[in-house]
Amino acid sequence: MKIRAILSIIIILTVILFVIYQYMLYQKYASRPMPTALHSKVEEASQQLITKAEETGITVVITDGFRSVDEQNSIYAQGRQTEGNIVTYARGGESYHNYGLAIDFALQNKQGGIIWDLQYDGNENGNSDWMEVVKIAKSLGFKWGGDFTRFKDYPHLQMDFGLSIHELKRGKRPRDVIDL
Ligand SMILES: [Zn+2]
Repeated sequence: MKIRAILSIIIILTVILFVIYQYMLYQKYASRPMPTALHSKVEEASQQLITKAEETGITVVITDGFRSVDEQNSIYAQGRQTEGNIVTYARGGESYHNYGLAIDFALQNKQGGIIWDLQYDGNENGNSDWMEVVKIAKSLGFKWGGDFTRFKDYPHLQMDFGLSIHELKRGKRPRDVIDL
């Protein structure tokens, strides 16, 4: 009987400590500020993407990187409250761009124009330049928006480090899951 009582107390204390620990972790994450720039790993990989694509005769242009929550909200409004086509399904705080973990790319053709042509084969090797860039991006650790099932976002590349938007919103960051 005595042992059972002691065991019960230990179990109750363990549960209490666990709850306190979880709460402190939540507080620690919640007090973190939003990122203000592209994550260094993403920045590094973007530069490598440009270099590696150039080596195969493709000029990649990064058209978008870090986006603040305000910027995200205003592009979310586009095609809804304001004129234009819908360009995003993510509100402020719901895009990987808001955490510096995503970039958008386009191609530059020989005439210097910025194009979003998935068929364009400027280096004339029989393969779509766009898909060649996607392949390089994936080898660098990016996930491609063209693989998304809900909304195909062909210019979009992101590194989520296994973090969901929900976790990022709560303040969890790549440094919690990777060594930097
Ligand atoms: Zn994007």
